[in-house]
Amino acid sequence: MYDLAIIGAGINGASVAYEFTKAGKKVIIFDMEGIASGGSGAAGAFIAPKFSKEGELKELLNDAFIYSMEFYEKNFPHLLKKTTLFHSAKDKKSSQILAKYKKQTQLKLKVASSEFLDSLTPYAKEYEHICIDAGIVDARAMCSEMCKYAKFIKQKVESLVYKDDHWLIDEKYRAKNVLLATGAYESVIDEPYIKLNGVWGHRIDIKTSSSNEYSIHQVVSISCSFDGEMAIGATHDVGYHPQKSKTPYNLEEGRVELLKKASKSIDLKDIEVLRDFTGLRSGSLDYMPIVGSLVISKETLLSKNIRYEIESSNTKNYRYYPSLYMINGNGGYGFVLAPYIAKILQEHILDAKEIGKNLRADRFFTRWAKKSF
Ligand SMILES: Cc1cc2nc3c(=O)[nH]c(=O)nc-3n(C[C@H](O)[C@H](O)[C@H](O)COP(=O)(O)OP(=O)(O)OC[C@H]3O[C@@H](n4cnc5c(N)ncnc54)[C@H](O)[C@@H]3O)c2cc1C
Repeated sequence: MYDLAIIGAGINGASVAYEFTKAGKKVIIFDMEGIASGGSGAAGAFIAPKFSKEGELKELLNDAFIYSMEFYEKNFPHLLKKTTLFHSAKDKKSSQILAKYKKQTQLKLKVASSEFLDSLTPYAKEYEHICIDAGIVDARAMCSEMCKYAKFIKQKVESLVYKDDHWLIDEKYRAKNVLLATGAYESVIDEPYIKLNGVWGHRIDIKTSSSNEYSIHQVVSISCSFDGEMAIGATHDVGYHPQKSKTPYNLEEGRVELLKKASKSIDLKDIEVLRDFTGLRSGSLDYMPIVGSLVISKETLLSKNIRYEIESSNTKNYRYYPSLYMINGNGGYGFVLAPYIAKILQEHILDAKEIGKNLRADRFFTRWAKKSF
């Protein structure tokens, strides 16, 4: 019997596997394609905050950025490249937002070197910019190392049955708790209030004779040079979905788009595309991640006091799946958010700590149910 079965070995599932195995728990993790085969394997895995206007997502990403940088540095220093990040606004509006951000932030700001600034295009210097210490992680190796002490099974999980105080997975594996960490893929448990947007992305690794001292984020993200290579990412393609689109994704067009966007910030010479990475990001309807227990919508709607409970957003009479949790909806910030929200989930499951309302999965049930009455 496992303490926890995790479905999905992307950065979310892997981060929870890491927290639980570190706490001495027995963990089994399933992935239909292999570790980091979904969005996580495609990520450039830049660790950066969100330089946006005020709001709960900005606050969360700021906290998660500080937490995750320390977490990666402490636990996986060999998989973290610490880099200086030069983030430049794209237009007048984002320039104003960035100027305000710089005034309010507690992050330590750096000054870009004149050699670096000389290497940029005029467009990269036209608007407000910010320079901070940030990082890039090795996405695939990170997920693999985090899963090291869990039992990994390459298999598509099709069935989950709860019986006699435990879950039976695909009629074979038994676990006390189950975690759905399936990203933008079809969910094993279908609940109408959980809606995830899969946004397709493409990034590339290139070889170039140009060199780059810092990571640059402007129209796209460009890594600093490592042994003559740079990573460039990523596209945001809402029109393509690997499970729904009829025509295959056009890699050549994606490469052209990425190189065109990168060349707005830096002049790249003698380019050879070495590798392509593609995958789906998974975003929630309010852009905040989803962490915690799932409400059984049918049973809850039948409950006597439910109208009052929903109107007052009181979750007292909600019916939840027993010992079943979800972690998802990290959008384009999976590697920034995952260690932070995995810790929150671990403390919730093992120490009964409350999860904030703005992260909990049941917020979507409340919104959906209000519309249903
Ligand atoms: C091109 C690109 C670039 C990105 N760049 C960055 C970046 O620079 N920084 C950053 O922080 N984030 C970045 N992201 C976002 C980040 O990759 C995602 O937020 C993150 O990967 C989400 O992780 P996840 O574990 O939720 O999902 P995924 O990594 O998609 O993992 C879900 C896994 O579940 C498995 N699965 C699904 N259903 C089943 C089933 N029934 N049985 C078994 N297995 C199943 C899938 O095979 C998959 O491996 C990028 C994303 C893309 C696509």
